Amino acid sequence: MKVAFFGTHAYDREFFDRFNARTGHQLHYLTPHLNEETVVLAEGHDCVCVFVNDVVNETVIAQLASLGVKLIATRSAGFNHIDLDAAKRHGLAVVRVPAYSPFAVAEHTAALILTLNRKTHRAFNRVRESNFSLDGLMGFDLHGKTVGVIGTGKIGRVFARIMQGFGCDVLAHDITEDAALVASGVQYLPLPDLLRKSDIVSLHCPLLPSTHYLIRAETIASMKPGAMLINTSRGALVDTRAVIEALKTGHLGALGLDVYEEEADLFFEDQSGQLLQDDVFARLLTFPNVLITGHQAFFTREALQAIAMTTLENITEFAATGDAKNRVRGK
Ligand code: NAD
Repeated sequence: MKVAFFGTHAYDREFFDRFNARTGHQLHYLTPHLNEETVVLAEGHDCVCVFVNDVVNETVIAQLASLGVKLIATRSAGFNHIDLDAAKRHGLAVVRVPAYSPFAVAEHTAALILTLNRKTHRAFNRVRESNFSLDGLMGFDLHGKTVGVIGTGKIGRVFARIMQGFGCDVLAHDITEDAALVASGVQYLPLPDLLRKSDIVSLHCPLLPSTHYLIRAETIASMKPGAMLINTSRGALVDTRAVIEALKTGHLGALGLDVYEEEADLFFEDQSGQLLQDDVFARLLTFPNVLITGHQAFFTREALQAIAMTTLENITEFAATGDAKNRVRGK
């Protein structure tokens, strides 16, 4: 297939070129993100390959359809950036990468917790300046603490096991229970109970209408005073303004984010020479107990290999059969 590959970075090209030697698609690498202005670049292609910060709304999809594009292949697991109903109405299929490396995201989640707790980012800078003072670096033993995991799918399951390895008691909340986790000692609880009992709360559920602002003023109020909140799932699971208020009062003890509700205009690009326009994000950066990474939890060699392989296989399968096992459908 002829594929217009939007938002290309050097690392995408490296892995897609390597695996496309087998699948032989015509990959046209484009630097701009897909949006209303750039959609014309898809002309002459059968497929667009997109990522989580591309705009794939009704307007863009209608134009893709009029340009003859048949397939939207997202090189991500999440697909909340794509209007699936619009894709269906305009006759475009959507495929995704349902699983690549749950370890990548789960391990990054653990890294955020360890860094926030033991303040290794601050220690690194201090030691390089010959400041060996320990003031302000005190953490707590993870051993014996209670960790609440919201969403125990592929990533949440691995994360729960990692935290059990640290000697934590793991609580979980999901719409379905994982029998193996229960057998390993994980206790499933209703959300209010999990929030009330957890020293650390980590989000691993998808962004859906039912999970939008799952963490907001009233749910934060039911969390343990001083608890740590970690979100490596999707930004809009958390009401950032409510979180800022809770950080200001000290009710929230620490915050680790790999995702942010307005990340589309910020993440994945070097914006170091520009003025930061997002005042909410700027406020978050002022807290010493907030650690933010720019949607890098997935970013391991193993994950990029799997993303490239599965995306190219999805395109091959759709080209051959008009359908694909990793297809996602609107209503
Ligand atoms: P998954 O589909 O395997 O698991 C999601 C789990 O959430 C399921 O068990 C589901 O039942 C549960 N769930 C659904 N609605 C819920 C609700 N209302 N309350 C509690 N649980 C609910 O997905 P996964 O592969 O484990 O990925 C989880 C999320 O991680 C994805 O949706 C994506 O947003 C995010 N993610 C982030 C990165 C990153 O780089 N930061 C990378 C990959 C995935």
